[in-house]
Amino acid sequence: MNSEEAISFDNDEPGGGCPAFRVHSVTARPAAEKQSISKVEDLTRYFPFSDSEISSLKQVEKIFPVRIPSYYLQLIRDYSDPGDPIRKQCVPSLEEIRQMEDEKVDPLGEEKTSPVSCLVHRYPDRVLLLVTSRCFMYCRHCTRKRLWKNKVSDPSLADIAKAIAYITSHKEIREVVVSGGDPLTLPSERLDYILAMIKQCSNVEVMRIGTRAPVVAPERIDKVLCNILKQYENLWVNVQFNHPREVTPQAAAACKKIQRCGIPISNQSVLLKGINDDPEVMKELCHKLQAIRVRPYYLFQCDRVIGTSHFWTSVLDGITIMERMRGWTGGMCVPLFVIDGEDGKGKIPISPNYIVSFSADTITFRNYKNELFTYRDSHS
Ligand SMILES: *Cc1c(COP(=O)(O)O)cnc(C)c1O
Ligand code: SF4
Repeated sequence: MNSEEAISFDNDEPGGGCPAFRVHSVTARPAAEKQSISKVEDLTRYFPFSDSEISSLKQVEKIFPVRIPSYYLQLIRDYSDPGDPIRKQCVPSLEEIRQMEDEKVDPLGEEKTSPVSCLVHRYPDRVLLLVTSRCFMYCRHCTRKRLWKNKVSDPSLADIAKAIAYITSHKEIREVVVSGGDPLTLPSERLDYILAMIKQCSNVEVMRIGTRAPVVAPERIDKVLCNILKQYENLWVNVQFNHPREVTPQAAAACKKIQRCGIPISNQSVLLKGINDDPEVMKELCHKLQAIRVRPYYLFQCDRVIGTSHFWTSVLDGITIMERMRGWTGGMCVPLFVIDGEDGKGKIPISPNYIVSFSADTITFRNYKNELFTYRDSHS
């Protein structure tokens, strides 16, 4: 599949779809979402779970539901290996309900920094617009696990209109991050309608969609969707690949379809214990992403969210990974390691320290190989 023409748009949505203004039903959802496992019971079709394991996992399911697209399930190599990095991201574990002291429902204080429903305004010039709470897959490490529980329906178009009114009346907002849940679970027409509403705000210069669809349900990137995305010239897409094995030919083809709409793709990984907390694994992931022109953007320290403590690593693990990448491989494939501060403090960049000492007019630096050199600073 080298020639661009060879890329086909399989699994296109049936013609028509649902008009943006009509309240959509579940059946109007993109086909990719339907081909998934959504009950612990069904896991026994793939995994050799005992009856007692299944009954424990049913307890987990009551608190944190399960949804795994069949495409993603097929990326698991050995269904009897609990350590599989694909399996760990999608199959529930009893560790999710052991309730650790540091786990919080909403550690980032998103509810507090929400001026109107479905909008988070934390930074001066950009907002997060949460257009749905549904996802193709419930990633076990998700920061917004709290939203899974409320069986709330998606924000209505009236809610979104209120958020848009807030955006228009706050001229300092120049960027809107469309997130959720996964915005691509919406019917394409509805997404189009929302993007068009945002585009009408004269202060908005840039739009960004955050989605895992290319990673977990690549068939969702179909022709209807691409024809819509293509119309928005200020649109960026951010995805979340966490492991090199997720960078499959299908995922690469999905990214290519988005890129052919003129849209740059960046990646936000989450640092996850036993999945990618190894410098070699992270480097391989970033190399694979760079090769498909997906720019590693952020590497997140896993947020202290309820039901995720088994994925937590030490901040030092992240710093070590950065240390092993910076300088040793191309800067274009080195992400920025960040911790999302508690209660809306924002993302804090964490980097190995390359400044060894300061004096009145010199600074001593070390390079990536730990060689020291002194730099004569100019006075300000
Ligand atoms: C992450 C985030 C953004 C976007 O931040 P960038 O650093 O521009 O990627 C905006 N608003 C909120 C609330 C966020 O959490
Ligand atoms: S796709 Fe994103 S929002 Fe949805 S469960 Fe995964 S990490 Fe959470």
